[in-house]
Amino acid sequence: MGEPSGDLDPETVPEPVPVVVAALLAAAEDATRAFAVATGLRCPEGCGACCHDARPEVTELDVSLIARDAVARGVGEALFEAAVAGADARCVFYESEDGAPHKGRCTAYSLRPMLCRLFGFAARRGKTGPELAACRVHRAQTPELVAVAEEAARRGEAPLFGDHQSRLDGLDPARSATKRPINQALARALERELTRVAYAGEEAAAALLDAPPAALNDDAVEGHDPGSEPGRRPPSGKLAA
Ligand code: SF4
Repeated sequence: MGEPSGDLDPETVPEPVPVVVAALLAAAEDATRAFAVATGLRCPEGCGACCHDARPEVTELDVSLIARDAVARGVGEALFEAAVAGADARCVFYESEDGAPHKGRCTAYSLRPMLCRLFGFAARRGKTGPELAACRVHRAQTPELVAVAEEAARRGEAPLFGDHQSRLDGLDPARSATKRPINQALARALERELTRVAYAGEEAAAALLDAPPAALNDDAVEGHDPGSEPGRRPPSGKLAA
């Protein structure tokens, strides 16, 4: 099915939102990286336990970049089929090592959702202040580093899940209203993106049919018709907002 390229080009993305989504996801990653450096907390080499054991719940917006990238590369329908078939199963992007299911990799790493970027290195607001949401593998293997990270979290030095997620959710409340198991969120995001691209293509074709002969049409000669620019049409109502 191929892997997300992770190199969305703002020039090829008509709406500003995907670029801002990418920026907020990158900001979360920067924050977790800084926290890891400050505390020494690390994931064991090649560990994929969280992806293997958990069924992370994310929003449609969380996986919108993955959907956009997959459709742009022509693998959107195949990925949609996989996501629907695995609606309640493990994340379709997790690829485990042969014979070592808890070791593996994320094949969507550069575009992965917010939760995946923060897990193990972020805090929730508790009754008495921020509390590290520690990974059980970290606790088992490096308890001394978890203790350091917990102390740092109490001092307010850990990224907060709520802050990062709510900034992202605020970009598009409709697509962020519901958290779903990741494959279900992905299926919805892909359906929306496939529909958007299909409508954009139909719109461009309709504009060509409606256009006067090119020789009589200065705009057509110039190749410039802002009124029929593909990709501007809002998503169809096929999906509930
Ligand atoms: S998107 Fe990547 S990091 Fe997130 S659960 Fe799936 S495999 Fe794991």
